[in-house]
Amino acid sequence: MKTPRYSIIAPVFNEVESLPVLIRRLSEVMDQTGETWELILVDDGSTDGSTDMIREMAKDDAHIRPVIFVRNFGHQLAVTAGLDYCRGDAVVIIDADLQDPPEVILEMITRWNEGYEVVYAVRSEREGETWFKRTTAAIFYRMIFRITDVKIPLDTGDFRLLDRKVVNVMNRMKEKHRFLRGMAAWVGYKQIGIPYKRAARLAGVTKYPFRKMLKLALNAITSFSYFPLQVATYIGFISAGISILAIPVVIVERLTGSQAFFGQATTLIAVLFLGGVQLISLGILGEYVGRIYDEAKGRPLYIVREEPSDFEK
Ligand code: UDP
Ligand code: MG
Repeated sequence: MKTPRYSIIAPVFNEVESLPVLIRRLSEVMDQTGETWELILVDDGSTDGSTDMIREMAKDDAHIRPVIFVRNFGHQLAVTAGLDYCRGDAVVIIDADLQDPPEVILEMITRWNEGYEVVYAVRSEREGETWFKRTTAAIFYRMIFRITDVKIPLDTGDFRLLDRKVVNVMNRMKEKHRFLRGMAAWVGYKQIGIPYKRAARLAGVTKYPFRKMLKLALNAITSFSYFPLQVATYIGFISAGISILAIPVVIVERLTGSQAFFGQATTLIAVLFLGGVQLISLGILGEYVGRIYDEAKGRPLYIVREEPSDFEK
């Protein structure tokens, strides 16, 4: 089979209501390009019938190439699988819930034809998301930007176009805890952002509860920054510095008969404060060590039940 010009990757986790509309709108947009294209639908362990729907759709539409996971591995790994299976010269990652309007893809392709190798979509506006989601997302992107060594563009999700060269490099990065937008920034290449209005979900609710968002944030930080580890060092130096300065003060106070440092409260506060700092530092260290442990185990990133070749006639 001839390799397509464009690949679209959409991770699917319980999106049965959005799928038909997604396929229709994507097909409309992609047919306008006049080039060959494929749509990799990665089913991330859906339980609402999305899986069967994808299987059926693949029978009728040769553009659709399903990758079906044995269980839920998470959004970032679903996209990773898509990157492994796609064959296009330009690859677009898009959410299946239609929060990313497919029409923006045409604009990305224009930029790609101008020579840009990564075209990421920047959320200039967000619709239909809760105050909590918008605020935590805004804080998250800004914090990541400040503390990571890679300059990951602000307010940018995974909705982006990647040139084949970039996809090949990213496929060689086998880290287990993946933060794809960071990885795409890390590789370099010629990059540009285009603004877009993030729509409300077409149907259903977010598949990113707070727990998953926190996990993503921790992966983002630990994958691209040592800053949290260094914080312990800074606090250590500061408290050691204060203690040294305190020694002559206390000696003078005692010699002059002052009672300023009598009582247990001072001791207790100091001990609790340092104990707290030490436990937090240990926890931070644990986050990194746990990730080293996961890397050392060398387990596969995801397990597929069915892959595109199972659907070829
Ligand atoms: N998704 C996935 N696996 C998951 C969670 C989400 O494949 O464990 C998919 C989901 O179907 C959607 C995309 O990832 O296509 C983004 O998820 P969602 O829209 O729930 O996140 P939000 O837009 O609320 O941040
Ligand atoms: Mg969404």
